[in-house]
Amino acid sequence: MGKATGFIEIKREEATERDPKQRLNDWKEYAAPFSDEVLSRQGARCMDCGTPFCHIGTEINGSTSGCPVYNLIPEWNDLVYRGKWKEALDRLMKTNNFPEFTGRVCPAPCEGSCTVAISDPAVTIKNIEQSIIDKGFENGWITPRIPERRTGKKVAIIGSGPAGMAAADQLNQAGHTVTVFEKSDRAGGLLTYGIPNMKLDKEVVERRVRLLEQEGIDFVTSTEIGKDITPSELKEQYDSVIICTGAQKQRDLPIEGRKSEGVHFAMDYLTVSTKSLLDSGFQDGNYIDAKGKDVIVIGGGDTGADCIATALRQDCKSIVQFGKHPQLPLARTGDNAWPEFPKVFSVEYAHKEAKAKFGEDPRQYSIQTKRFVADENGKLKELHTVQMRKVTDENGMFVYEEVPGTEKVWPAQLVLIAIGFEGPEQPLLETFGVDTDKRRVKAAYGDFSTNIEGVFAAGDARRGQSLIVWAINEGREVAYKVDQFLMGKSSLPTVEAM
Ligand SMILES: Cc1cc2nc3c(=O)[nH]c(=O)nc-3n(C[C@H](O)[C@H](O)[C@H](O)COP(=O)(O)OP(=O)(O)OC[C@H]3O[C@@H](n4cnc5c(N)ncnc54)[C@H](O)[C@@H]3O)c2cc1C
Ligand code: SF4
Repeated sequence: MGKATGFIEIKREEATERDPKQRLNDWKEYAAPFSDEVLSRQGARCMDCGTPFCHIGTEINGSTSGCPVYNLIPEWNDLVYRGKWKEALDRLMKTNNFPEFTGRVCPAPCEGSCTVAISDPAVTIKNIEQSIIDKGFENGWITPRIPERRTGKKVAIIGSGPAGMAAADQLNQAGHTVTVFEKSDRAGGLLTYGIPNMKLDKEVVERRVRLLEQEGIDFVTSTEIGKDITPSELKEQYDSVIICTGAQKQRDLPIEGRKSEGVHFAMDYLTVSTKSLLDSGFQDGNYIDAKGKDVIVIGGGDTGADCIATALRQDCKSIVQFGKHPQLPLARTGDNAWPEFPKVFSVEYAHKEAKAKFGEDPRQYSIQTKRFVADENGKLKELHTVQMRKVTDENGMFVYEEVPGTEKVWPAQLVLIAIGFEGPEQPLLETFGVDTDKRRVKAAYGDFSTNIEGVFAAGDARRGQSLIVWAINEGREVAYKVDQFLMGKSSLPTVEAM
């Protein structure tokens, strides 16, 4: 274990960040790395518990608790404490194909279930994970692993997000010939066109895609299955197909004035911003610009926060984020006990930046948008809201009702709708003929097969909009099933074997 008395003697150190005012001038990652010395000290806090809840990912009350890829956290914490970085890397790569993504942007459900967190701040697991993999790349310890033999079996993966990439990595290592089809011009799914550059530098994603290519995986971008290649062509040409198309159909807000010029889906806004940054450093002008505008983000989640950070860098005039729910409590309540994911108030990177620029947190709680109002040219000029409160209805259920007299008018020239996702885009699923359940591909977790022989599904397309770490988990697990389907057996690792 780390240091026997480490968790008593050493305090948690929060991840370091670049100065919020300074970083608004660029699009580079906002986080700043810890030194080796600090990381070794933080690793020493790990108690190497008999039953490490941090390492076992599960869902409790609809939230993730522990690490979904079953990272061997206590083992690499101890190795980092002892300065054995290469060994820590070997241990980390046993369970996680892409720690450089999760180490940067995972919400770290492992930390919520860390035993130290029962009474003290958790071990800084996520930062240690990022440092191990970053060191692996810096020191040249990560090199292409080219499979020694090929099975002659061909697998097509539709979608190059973390689920598709993890499945491709595993199946390639098992010796199969893997092609990943991607409708966008760049691989990576939401890692590329979703999460903004200041959270996850796109060079980090491209570096991994290049490595997978060197290992033998073929990424075919700008190719939409269902349009450029039909599902039947794919089924004819490949021994197995995996649908990893994500769940990017956005939930709309069909209220009065929705068609006003200046009302956009968050994902459209984030995608064109990253594309323009990568294509031309914004020189092409092909993005939605918040410069000089009053911006309102509707939706209190992480996608909304990413919109705030983007609009701030574009030099918006003002920014507000609306949330439907009340502000979360500062500490766990009785119905959210350890080891559940802590549902407590937090200040994200974007909120810190908004405060640094405008002097206050941009969030407004328990608020509902009633209508958008445009000027005579159809351009958005304002937004009307009302405050909501939670009450109990006649059946004892919690419902929200409007608070009379709380109507308010907000000036707005740009509104970004970030109220969640409905599931995968349906046309592909229809042409494939796969069964769906609540708009997602119907395929049981652990089995991953659809109603069509040889066609499997994994990631958000199967489970709904979720987390990168779950996408990696599903990519690994579906690969095991596909390998078994193709060869009659598989020696690929699964979480069960951990
Ligand atoms: C704005 C935003 C921020 C997020 N931030 C975080 C975060 O900080 N941490 C975290 O853990 N999770 C985050 N998430 C969630 C996370 O990104 C997803 O859960 C994860 O990317 C899902 O992986 P996936 O591979 O299943 O699908 P995706 O990443 O959605 O990839 C699916 C891919 O399939 C492609 N595709 C779809 N249809 C076709 C077709 N017919 N032919 C070819 N290609 C097709 C798409 O273009 C896409 O590239 C965020 C999500 C959003 C929207
Ligand atoms: S992948 Fe996420 S849950 Fe797992 S160890 Fe890393 S930060 Fe924790």
